[in-house]
Amino acid sequence: MTETLTGVTVVTHPLVQHKLSYLRDKHTPTVHFRKLANEVTLLLTYEATKDFPTETDEVETPLERTEVQRIAGKKVAVCPVLRAGLGMLDGVLSLVSSARVGFIGLYRDEETLQPVEYYVKLPDLGEERDAIVLDPMLATGRSSAAAVAAVKAAGARSVTLVCLVAAPEGIDHMQSEHPDVRIITAAVDRELNDRGYILPGLGDAGDRLYGTK
Ligand code: URA
Repeated sequence: MTETLTGVTVVTHPLVQHKLSYLRDKHTPTVHFRKLANEVTLLLTYEATKDFPTETDEVETPLERTEVQRIAGKKVAVCPVLRAGLGMLDGVLSLVSSARVGFIGLYRDEETLQPVEYYVKLPDLGEERDAIVLDPMLATGRSSAAAVAAVKAAGARSVTLVCLVAAPEGIDHMQSEHPDVRIITAAVDRELNDRGYILPGLGDAGDRLYGTK
């Protein structure tokens, strides 16, 4: 149910691919798009968290005492990139409900084409805090890479990027800037067009989530 390129996991589970097909469809209305984005993110989070270490504990069932496995002291920070990353947040929180949440706002400087931070509010990321960065479209990779840099600067021990769709250009950029970051995605698409949109993609994720244009 997954294909792994170096550092990139493509979740090929039929449920993920089924839901992605509706995200791609331009006829899918905002109300469904929003729900599907969270559902796909939830399923990607299942994959993103699969190596969380566990430790043995004991509980009493109604019948006897037994050993159980629990996640070992793992503290997770989920960091959506504004604004489209917000459309993935509930999907993660429905599985990792105790996660702290940080926000990263970036805009693109039209002269330099580089992302510029306009708002960063992150929880304490020191001491064993692992970060999951949410950015639905890994297109040029510049904003995702800048978001990862912000999260690392705040002290994150490890960073996983969860996106809905990735372009080869974005993966290359992320891997050259942050080779240690794991990328979890539902698809790796063909290419970017001359406006930086992913082809075939799903369009502007923010506009489709929030009904703007
Ligand atoms: N951002 C989007 O929302 N969609 C793309 O295809 C590329 C960047």
